[in-house]
Amino acid sequence: MQDFLDTSITYLPGVGPKRAELLNKELNIFNYRDLLYYFPYKYIDRTRFYKISELDPDLPFVQIKGMIKGYYTEGRGHGKRLVADFQDDTGSVKLVWFKGVKWITQSYTPGVEFIVFGKPGVFNGMINIIHPEIEASSKVAERLTSALQAQYSTTENLKNHFLTSRAVSKLIGTMLKQLKFRLPESLPAWMVSKYKLMELHQALHKIHFPSGPDELEKARYRLKFEELFYIQLNLIRFKNNRTRKFKGFVFSSVGENFNSFYYNNLPFSLTEAQKRVMKEIRKDLGSGKQMNRLLQGDVGSGKTLVALMSMLIAIDNGYQACIMAPTEILASQHYETITKMLEGINIKIRLLTGSSKRSLRKEISESLMDRSLNILIGTHALIEENVKFDNLGLVIIDEQHRFGVEQRAKLWQKSINPPHILVMTATPIPRTLAMTLYGDLDVSVIDELPPGRVPIKTMHYFDAERNKVFGFMRTQISEGRQIYIVYPLIKESEKMDYKDLEDGWDTISRVFPAPEYCISVVHGRMTPVIKEESMRLFKDGKAHILIATTVIEVGVDIPNASVMVIESAERFGLSQLHQLRGRVGRGSEQSYCILMSSGKLSKEAATRIEVMIRTTDGFEIAETDLQLRGPGDIEGTMQSGIPFDLKISNLSRDGQIIEYVRNIAEDILTKDPLLEEKENLILLTELKRLFSKRQSWSNIS
Ligand code: ADP
Ligand code: MG
Repeated sequence: MQDFLDTSITYLPGVGPKRAELLNKELNIFNYRDLLYYFPYKYIDRTRFYKISELDPDLPFVQIKGMIKGYYTEGRGHGKRLVADFQDDTGSVKLVWFKGVKWITQSYTPGVEFIVFGKPGVFNGMINIIHPEIEASSKVAERLTSALQAQYSTTENLKNHFLTSRAVSKLIGTMLKQLKFRLPESLPAWMVSKYKLMELHQALHKIHFPSGPDELEKARYRLKFEELFYIQLNLIRFKNNRTRKFKGFVFSSVGENFNSFYYNNLPFSLTEAQKRVMKEIRKDLGSGKQMNRLLQGDVGSGKTLVALMSMLIAIDNGYQACIMAPTEILASQHYETITKMLEGINIKIRLLTGSSKRSLRKEISESLMDRSLNILIGTHALIEENVKFDNLGLVIIDEQHRFGVEQRAKLWQKSINPPHILVMTATPIPRTLAMTLYGDLDVSVIDELPPGRVPIKTMHYFDAERNKVFGFMRTQISEGRQIYIVYPLIKESEKMDYKDLEDGWDTISRVFPAPEYCISVVHGRMTPVIKEESMRLFKDGKAHILIATTVIEVGVDIPNASVMVIESAERFGLSQLHQLRGRVGRGSEQSYCILMSSGKLSKEAATRIEVMIRTTDGFEIAETDLQLRGPGDIEGTMQSGIPFDLKISNLSRDGQIIEYVRNIAEDILTKDPLLEEKENLILLTELKRLFSKRQSWSNIS
C-alpha cells in the first residue's frame, strides 16, 4: 500500500520525464505522496457565474459562460496578440493571448459553449481577460471537481510548460482516480474517533476537491491536527528521553560564594520575577536531572544577574561555568559587569574571544584544566576544539537567537556528562510559538522590569524634520545625556549601508563639531581593538554621540545613554527596533527613542512604526511582528527543530491547535512513555518516518 505513495511521479499519466524534472526542481515533488501532500493555497468558488455585463477590473478571478464569436490579431512585435470576442446574452469581452496562439484557435471552436475563467483587466478602456482558462461546458460537468476549486501555487517556469494550477489539480485528480484502496490512517484509530477527526483518506481527497466549505474545514483541521501533533509528540518525547538518559550534576548547596555575593555585593534587591526564576533554576540544578531551560525576559529585565547567581551556585558546588555571547562587545561587557559585581570575592574569571592573545589562551586552557578558572566568558571562541573544561557544570548562552543549533551542540559536547544549560533570550516569543520553537526546553519568564525605570518615549520624524531632532539632541547633551545613532546594516547592500553610515557621520560631525562635541563610531568592519576603543570612549562618558550599525543591537548596557536615534527605521524589523530601543531607558532619566524615516512608507513599515510608538511591551510587539511577517521569517525559526516545511499549518495562526495537540501528546507520553502500547504503534512508525532523516537536530538545545 505504501508502495503506491512511493511511486515515482514519472509513472503518473500526464507527467513525462520533462514535467517530472520540473516538478522535482520547482516544487520538490518526487513521488505520489509529495504530490498528494502538495496542498492548495486557496480555493475559488466556482458555483458562481458572472454575466459579462457585470465584469469590472476590480473583481478577482471570475467565471463566465458564453461563446467565441471569432478570432483576430492585434498589435505587432512583442505586443502581437490573439484576441477573441467572447459573448453571452449581456455583452462581450475580449479574451487575449500572447502565446500558444495556434493551439488556441484549433482547440476552441467558435459557436461552442465554453466556460471561461480568469481575471478581468482593462486595456484601452475595454474589459479583457488575458490568458484565461477555457473549458467546454460539457466537459466541466464530468471533471472530478467541486464547487470550491483548489488553487495551487506554481512557478513561472512551470507555467511556461503549461503546469498551471489547473494542470496540477488535474494530475492530483488522475492520481486519486488510480487509487484503488483506502489510504492507511496515520493516527491511531482511537484518536480519530476520540477527537472526531476526518479520516486521512477522506481528508486527503477533500483538501483537493472539497464539495463545500464545511467539508473543507474538516479536512483542513484533520491535516493541521496531524502535522502539529507529530511535531509536539516528537519534541516532548525527546525531552522526556533526555531527562531519562542524562543524570544532571547535582548542585545541592548554596554556598559561600553565592551568599557572600548576595549579602555583600548585590547593590539592589531582586525583582519578584528574578526571585521566582532563581527558584525555578535552583530546583532544576538540585534535581539530579540535567537542566535545559530557556530564560525569556525583555531587554533590561536583568537576566545577567540571574546568570551570575546561577554560576555562583555551580562554583559553590565545585564546578566551572561559562557564558557564551554572540558578539565581542557583549562578551567583554559581561566580563566587565561580572568582574565588577564579584569584587572582593575570590573567583577567577577570564574573557576569551577571537582576538584573545595566544599567551592568554594558554593561561586559560591551563587554568581550565587545573580547575583554578571558575568562570569563562566569551564568544564563539568558546566552542573551538582546543577549549577544554575539566568540570564544566553550567553553560549559559546569552541572546540565543544569534546562535545556530550546531553551535549549541558543540558546547554541549564539552564534557562527558552534559552540563546544565540555561539559554537566555530577550526576543519575546509568543507563547504558542515558543511551544514549538523551544518545545523541548523548560521555560522561565522574567516579566517585570527593575523598579524606577521611566517608560521610554518613542517618536517618529521624517527625514525632512531632521533639524528639530538635532535641536533635541543638543538639549539632551547639554543635560549630560548621551546619544546613540544607529544605521541599518543589511547584508545584501552592505556597501550602500556603510555609505549611509559615512554620510551620516559627515553630517553629524558638522552639526556637532569638535572640540565642543565628541563623536565615536562603531561598526562591524573595524578591528575588535578599535571597536573596543570606540565603545570605551562612549562607555566612559567621553563621547556624547555613538554612531553605530546594528552591532550594538544586543545587550549593550550604558545607563547614561538616554536617546536612541534610529535612522531609516522603516528598514528595520519590529523585533530589531525593539532591541535597539532597549539600549536606552536603563537609567533613572527619561529616555527617548526617535525613529527617522523617509517620507514614503509602505503600509507595513507604517504599522511597525505605529506599534513602536504605542507600546514598549515586548510580547505585544512580538505578536504583531508575527502577524505582520509570519513565523517563517522570524529570526531563529530556522533553528526551530522542525526538519520539514509545514504543509498546512501556520505556527502563528494555529496557536490554539498547537496548545490542544501539545496537551494530547503530553497525555499520551505520560501513559505510554515509550509508545509501546499496541494502539500507539502507529505513532512510533510515523515519528520515524517524519523525523528520522534529520533526527540529529534534536540532540541539542
Ligand atoms: P538584560 O535582561 O537585558 O540582559 P541586564 O541584565 O543587562 O538586562 O540588566 C539591565 C540593567 O538592570 C543592568 O544595569 C542591571 O544592573 C540592572 N538590574 C538588574 N536587576 C536589577 C534589580 N533587581 N534592581 C535594579 N536594577 C537591576
Ligand atoms: Mg543581556
